[in-house]
Amino acid sequence: MRKFTLAISLLACGATACAQMAKPAVKPVAASPYAKSITAAELKKHLYIIAGDEMQGRETGTPGQHKAAKYITEHFKRIGLEPGANGQWEQPFSLWQDTLKESRITAGGKVFEFGKDYYAGLRDQKDQTLGQTPVVFAGYGISNEQYDSYKGIDATDKIVLLIEGEPLNADGKPLFPKVEGQPQGTQLRDKLRTAGGKGAKAVFVVSANVSQIGRMGSRLMRTGLYFRDEITTMEYIPNSYFIGTDLATALTGKSLAELTAAVKESKAVATVAPVTALTFTKGKLEVKSSNVLGILPGTDKKDEYVFVTAHYDHIGVINGKIHNGADDDGSGTVSVMMMAEAFMKAKKAGKGPRRNIVFMTVAGEEKGLLGSRYYTEHPIYPLSNTVVDLNIDMIGRIDPEHEKDSNYVYVIGDNKLSSELRPINEAANEQVGLKLDYKYNDPNDPNRFYYRSDHYMFAQHKVPIIFYFNGVHVDYHGAGDKPDKIHYPMLAKRAQLVFYTAWEVANRPDRIKVDRNEK
Ligand SMILES: [Zn+2]
Repeated sequence: MRKFTLAISLLACGATACAQMAKPAVKPVAASPYAKSITAAELKKHLYIIAGDEMQGRETGTPGQHKAAKYITEHFKRIGLEPGANGQWEQPFSLWQDTLKESRITAGGKVFEFGKDYYAGLRDQKDQTLGQTPVVFAGYGISNEQYDSYKGIDATDKIVLLIEGEPLNADGKPLFPKVEGQPQGTQLRDKLRTAGGKGAKAVFVVSANVSQIGRMGSRLMRTGLYFRDEITTMEYIPNSYFIGTDLATALTGKSLAELTAAVKESKAVATVAPVTALTFTKGKLEVKSSNVLGILPGTDKKDEYVFVTAHYDHIGVINGKIHNGADDDGSGTVSVMMMAEAFMKAKKAGKGPRRNIVFMTVAGEEKGLLGSRYYTEHPIYPLSNTVVDLNIDMIGRIDPEHEKDSNYVYVIGDNKLSSELRPINEAANEQVGLKLDYKYNDPNDPNRFYYRSDHYMFAQHKVPIIFYFNGVHVDYHGAGDKPDKIHYPMLAKRAQLVFYTAWEVANRPDRIKVDRNEK
């Protein structure tokens, strides 16, 4: 489960649109022996390996992640699946990461250090080398019809020094309140754009928080992982540097409080010393990762694909502690492995699925759903013929709300795109008897879980999905998410529910309809 939410607006679902449909019949007798072959003991055996210390927390692009990919591949091979990625087991993809090579600012005969005296976001910044460069102080850096920080100031080829914030009225409210879709020039991005338009070479923003950034340590020195094609900006935005009060004082001879007072009283700051030298140089790393795919060919509906997914990456080693990710999402990974094995057993007994089933474990989830995004942007099987994605992300634990009644699973997204999926899943659940908790399916729920795991990438392409989830708990994204804390009988029960649902969707005469479009 990804930690940060995506910025996507929510729409409420209407009363009639959310009404439940009638339940169809399932054939539990055929599926039952295979569902029951998904046992707590087998799941446990695999999870102690997937979430063992030798996998080093499976961070995307690390040897631990590649080791996990090999383990899943070996399992798929052994049970007799076919390679699912154009004759290969892995669908490779490259991610990129910017790193800081070198940066330094010299002013007033002193050298100021990156990460201590100032910092800069790496992602949108360009390499920069400046010799002696004049600095001008432009207050809040706002320039609109009613307010101009740049009055009488020529910023061309200079460094613009700014303070954070915006002018307030007599009641202490913003003079230029936020209006959706109407930039007032008061946000940092607007201020940089304004400075760029005035020909500034760079922007320094004085920030009282710079003294605390040392705590971020090496995280300041690299960006997150991203796909190379994401950089699209064509307009000129100057590099920006957040500078601490020491550097600000070296330039202006004033404290941050004095600078702020001068801006409020509309007084100019007459003398600002130049920067003697500035360097900022980045490097770029390629990080290789992959999704692992195995396919079980269908017997007669050979053009249609049922997907069962989980992410096998986790967050790696943080501050020297291995984050094993047993629940997140080792639990989903071993469930996919065991479901594949159960379907293979059925196939060998002449009860193979009518539709193809693709078992896919993805990487990059914790970095922003990157593996599933890569797959859905580079699909190996047509998304128009992909009938469903049943995604499992964290099903091995009990959340605090269910400590007294642990026989549950959260079901999310099941009614968003097809009216047929919820009745199918509920009928399947008659075989296992879990309490299906739809709490997080509410589009107004602030946790926004629907947007936070890999199924969402399929849903964006109008593939109906179900997301199975146990909720968050004290060890979520912590070093305590270990295999000895998993509730194995409950993990098995939840994996069996997904199996029964997959069985029905893969075997029913007609593919499920896409007849809804809920957010
Ligand atoms: Zn997670």
